[in-house]
Amino acid sequence: MDGKLQPNFKYELKNTPCKIVMSGERVCVHEHSVCKKFPNDPLLETLKVESYVGSPTISPNGDLIGILVLADDKPMLNNEQLSPTIEFLAQRITAEYERYNIEQGLHKIIEKRTKELEASNAYLRRSVEELELAKRELEYKHRTDSLTHVHTREWFTDLAMAQLKMAKRNQYPLSLLFIDLDYFKKINDTYGHTTGDIVLEEVAARIKRCVRETDILGRFGGEEFILLSPYTDSRKSIQLAERIKNGVSSIPIQAFNNDISITTSIGIAASDIDVCELENLIEHADAALYRAKDSGRNTCVLYN
Ligand code: GH3
Ligand code: MG
Ligand code: MG
Repeated sequence: MDGKLQPNFKYELKNTPCKIVMSGERVCVHEHSVCKKFPNDPLLETLKVESYVGSPTISPNGDLIGILVLADDKPMLNNEQLSPTIEFLAQRITAEYERYNIEQGLHKIIEKRTKELEASNAYLRRSVEELELAKRELEYKHRTDSLTHVHTREWFTDLAMAQLKMAKRNQYPLSLLFIDLDYFKKINDTYGHTTGDIVLEEVAARIKRCVRETDILGRFGGEEFILLSPYTDSRKSIQLAERIKNGVSSIPIQAFNNDISITTSIGIAASDIDVCELENLIEHADAALYRAKDSGRNTCVLYN
């Protein structure tokens, strides 16, 4: 009104030209004197409307969305373009209205899907983290003996094979030691299995303190440890074995108020120049260990 947009307002349609447009007539044109034709329409009077043209806006499924009205305070020229033009504009409004509704619907679907994807992503991230953790735990279990915290036999074997390959390529000596606790069964029988476990754990810790960081220590079986020491020839391997033997038996191990003395027998296989296969080294160390046991225990024997 007066070239300005007016706020929305409610309007009684009874006895108005709009009522006729809404009742289904496609386009309704009153070129002049519309006020006189609808004397009970107060808005026409207030706005001094002289001419009127209205078209319904109908959605593709036949619902009436609203009406488009042009009104003027002057008569409209008898223009044959008027009716199709307003009808076209009404259709454009309907199309725009439909497009807007579809766009809003799409926005809602996108929002919903985005939230679902975010939730799935978070779930996947958590699953990946849990799997990573489980994988690391499994790897740790595969590699580390749960009682003595040294390498498992399997992991020792993998590491030892790799070490042997390097020794072969770079021609350096290495030694393999079989360390077996003497009369360990007696300890179990005397003090019980739990005490036996404490002794095993402590023996492993004592062996670790006697070796270099680059030495590979594993639990070969029940109360047997295996050690591969790179850059250790036969002479040095005897020194190393003596150090371990003395280190393990130096002072009694305390468990549940018992002082438990323990000794070890150690079989040594050294490959000073020609590095042989892991199986040969194990076989030789085992044979040397047998001799150590045979000669009274608490001793180290080098295979030759
Ligand atoms: P030897 O001097 O000839 O080596 O005698 P030993 O008693 O040490 O050897 P033997 O092979 O007769 O016994 C080994 C014992 O080690 C028997 C077994 O019950 C015990 N043992 C093996 N694994 C474990 C373990 O994880 N914990 C405990 N507490 N004992 C174990
Ligand atoms: Mg034993
Ligand atoms: Mg044994």
